[in-house]
Amino acid sequence: FSTEAGETVRATLFPGDGIGPEIAESVKQVFNVAGVPIEWEEHYVGTEVDPRTESFLTWESLESVRKNKVGLKGPMATPIGKGHRSLNLTLRKELGLYANVRPCNSLPGYKTRYDDVNLVTIRENTEGEYSGLEHQVVRGVVESLKIITRQASLRVAEYAFHYAKANGRERVSAIHKANIMRKTDGLFLKCCREVAEKYPEIQYEEVIIDNCCMTLVKNPGLFDVLVMPNLYGDIISDLCAGLIGGLGLTPSCNIGEGGICLAEAVHGSAPDIAGKNLANPTALMLSAVMMLRHLQFNDKADRIHKAILQTIADGKYRTADLGGKASTSEFTNAVCDYI
Ligand code: NAD
Repeated sequence: FSTEAGETVRATLFPGDGIGPEIAESVKQVFNVAGVPIEWEEHYVGTEVDPRTESFLTWESLESVRKNKVGLKGPMATPIGKGHRSLNLTLRKELGLYANVRPCNSLPGYKTRYDDVNLVTIRENTEGEYSGLEHQVVRGVVESLKIITRQASLRVAEYAFHYAKANGRERVSAIHKANIMRKTDGLFLKCCREVAEKYPEIQYEEVIIDNCCMTLVKNPGLFDVLVMPNLYGDIISDLCAGLIGGLGLTPSCNIGEGGICLAEAVHGSAPDIAGKNLANPTALMLSAVMMLRHLQFNDKADRIHKAILQTIADGKYRTADLGGKASTSEFTNAVCDYI
């Protein structure tokens, strides 16, 4: 993605449900104060199924992301009822979001068991055990198909090495269980090896998933960039979020076909605290920072990132999930003051 100096960029914003609109408002406020040249195109989840998407997401909102190639997504509550596709699955499939990127960094001043976590998980987002191919073989026996393709594995491995190089990272670890799943995880590893050869400046290693879990909880500082198939990525990325203080602090970004970047907080719509000005907007703010880095607005990204970290480190304005008493707007105002 390249932007001309002084150009205003249009980006799609899905405020989402529950606490989504409140924390999206925080991001807008922070962007205004920092003078980020972004014009938002806001889209909401519809109230009826759109037959063109078979989901509550409208065709127009998907078109907006396709056209702008960049967006920010708040949490979306899964509507109850049959005959429609899940919102996240619709976004993944329709926008070809093939990689989910989650940086996990210890936050200075917010004490957890570790203070040296600085890793990034990159999860293949389209296949593996999540291909939705399950059936009953005979009564009492069911089968679920795990699909691994060369095309999707190469694509996510390529992204992981590209990410490592572009972000000054030293090592990529491929996480697998190829000792048991020789064909599927074996192919995934083969693709990672092929890509690794093109990046001799980046160290490459292979770590078996069970050993990876043990090492992550004993010494997460040993990892740098981790790339893995869908199911392992789903689990490991939440494990890593837990290492730094939980989902309220963890940003993420989905990379899609044609260079699409859709950043999103990984937590849900938190209906228990929605509308009460209690939500922690950090995860969505940090996701917005990832979006700015993708757009190469690095100065703005650095300023906002630093202000968020300073506010948390200060400890004066922390939201309830971090043990504080501050409201969403008090925390947001404190970040704006630092900017
Ligand atoms: P949740 O993440 O919404 O909430 C779990 C707990 O964490 C709650 O106690 C909540 O108050 C707290 N929490 C979450 N985010 C917070 C924040 N920013 N600040 C402070 N506290 C926060 O998970 P859930 O209750 O399982 O799901 C609620 C709804 O969200 C469901 O409809 C689910 O489908 C949806 N969901 C959406 C996404 C997404 O859009 N990516 C992800 C997960 C869940």
